[in-house]
Amino acid sequence: MYFKHFFLKIFSQIRSLLLIFLNIFEKSETRLYPEENLRLSSRYRGRIILTCTPNGEERCVACGLCAAVCPVGCIALEKTEQKNGRWFSKFFRINFSRCIFCGLCEEACPTAAIQLIPDVELGDFKRKNLIYEKNNLLISGTGKKKKYDYYVFSGVTLKNVSMGKKLHRKNKIDIKSLLP
Ligand code: SF4
Ligand code: SF4
Repeated sequence: MYFKHFFLKIFSQIRSLLLIFLNIFEKSETRLYPEENLRLSSRYRGRIILTCTPNGEERCVACGLCAAVCPVGCIALEKTEQKNGRWFSKFFRINFSRCIFCGLCEEACPTAAIQLIPDVELGDFKRKNLIYEKNNLLISGTGKKKKYDYYVFSGVTLKNVSMGKKLHRKNKIDIKSLLP
């Protein structure tokens, strides 16, 4: 029994050395970050942004669904309204020190305003610096959904603005066609 264990251990050592020797000639997987950029998938769930419509209007209508669905409660916002009736957020705050990057806020958002992007460089020495306000989150671009404008697709009309009317009438949905 003693000799059996002894030879098994010797065999295990030789096998490990052999595997190390074979892998010496393999291509290294080590990335010299931060000198070398990380290669993240475009669907990677990293930093959160707020996007705008193709017309440059804020997409967020302050419905609060993202805050309601967030499992850690790290989103805070308040709704306000423009003169034409369009809703937007008075303030929008995300506490990244609590965010777990689950992506549920993005799933819940009806306007595609909130999006997670492949950026992981959020580290900071002070926790309060991880509280991002609207001006830190809002970008002027559309993000992943290039042509999406919630007001146009939903057919919502605003005072003195004809947005949504045309498209809504042209692509009127026949709800009966959805019945089984
Ligand atoms: S990614 Fe998840 S945890 Fe982070 S804000 Fe969105 S819902 Fe909350
Ligand atoms: S980001 Fe989306 S889900 Fe969150 S409040 Fe704005 S519109 Fe609603």
